[in-house]
Amino acid sequence: MLDLFVHLLQNTGMLALAAIAYGVFVARIGGAAGDLLLGVLFGCGAVLSMMAPVELMPGIFVDSRATMVILSSFFGGPLAALLSAAITIAYRIYMGGQGVLAGSLALFIAMAIGLAGHYLFHADAYKVRKRHIFLLAAVSPLTMLSLLVLPSELALQILATSALPVVAVRIIGVVFLGLVMVGEQNRSRAEARIRRMAYVDELSGLANRRAFSGYLNREWKRWERYGEAFSVVVLDIDRFKVINDTFGHPTGDQVIRRLGELMIEESRGADVVARMGGEEFGMLLPYTSSASAYIVAERIRARVEREEIVVDGERIHFTVSLGVSADVENYANISKCLSGADRALYEAKRLGRNGVIIDTALGEAGENEIKPGIRGLVVDNSRARIG
Ligand code: GH3
Ligand code: MG
Ligand code: MG
Repeated sequence: MLDLFVHLLQNTGMLALAAIAYGVFVARIGGAAGDLLLGVLFGCGAVLSMMAPVELMPGIFVDSRATMVILSSFFGGPLAALLSAAITIAYRIYMGGQGVLAGSLALFIAMAIGLAGHYLFHADAYKVRKRHIFLLAAVSPLTMLSLLVLPSELALQILATSALPVVAVRIIGVVFLGLVMVGEQNRSRAEARIRRMAYVDELSGLANRRAFSGYLNREWKRWERYGEAFSVVVLDIDRFKVINDTFGHPTGDQVIRRLGELMIEESRGADVVARMGGEEFGMLLPYTSSASAYIVAERIRARVEREEIVVDGERIHFTVSLGVSADVENYANISKCLSGADRALYEAKRLGRNGVIIDTALGEAGENEIKPGIRGLVVDNSRARIG
């Protein structure tokens, strides 16, 4: 009896290890790779648990293998099911003994139970609930149907001696490991959601200010290390308050969203477009001189001016003002570069809006060495206005 207890404890430890491994690796990876890993991991876990089984009768073992196969099939679907079942059945055949056929069949049934639950509760698409785990645990002793392949006296003998411990071990195992896995799944989903919230602007789906500032810092380091120039553009919708007041806040939100799409359309894959907050956006253009960034900014300005946004039947026209940073060598650090673009934006507003201004970095004078000649920066475009 003590022996049984010690072995059950060992098996519980195995389940705990499996649960930890699931939380650390599988739940984070997800997708087919996660299913594959789950199948292999739980298959190996089942084999380990078979190495420390409780032998109820010669050749008849009880351990956590079926629990692992049920749960890997339930959480991971067909790929995880096939892998974990194949690994465990192979090892069961290798172990030999009079229960080989029944033992293998039990694992097959375990896989079928897990898969049925997987499809019934859409375990891959929806949140797995605790009650699903309890239901799964309740049907888990069905693995004992495998006894039907044994001669009837032997089956009855096994039932008489081991039905109770097997049912108990199975139910407790599925509930214990299953609930931990549900918890891990919820935790990793919540983590992913929080990570997303930390770096993605919810309204536009663009990078948010924090993410943008990360990109800017990295780009600045690249510039310092490899001399790869870049430009920063900031954009603000003109008289956005009027849009909100005229059409309502939800329509204003649609305008912000549409503008974000439009900026993505007008930029290159390597560019970063971010919503800085409110109706203000930022762009980071790697490998781009100030003059080239001006051309991009002007293209966006002109496109917005032409664009008609239709929200709930209302046709909305609006304009934007943009500020472009000077060539990056004019700035002492990245925040001066960003505030240079901001200063140019402010100047574009002051000069009447619907325009693009390049920062001359004049605001840096006295604080930093400004390359001579920047004051005379002229861009070959009739709308270019140098602030
Ligand atoms: P300016 O041409 O000087 O930029 O004028 P403006 O009206 O666009 O500028 P201001 O900064 O004074 O107003 C911005 C307005 O944007 C005020 C605020 O209510 C609105 N706003 C800020 N965030 C959101 C948002 O997420 N959705 C909507 N619909 N409106 C927002
Ligand atoms: Mg504005
Ligand atoms: Mg604003």
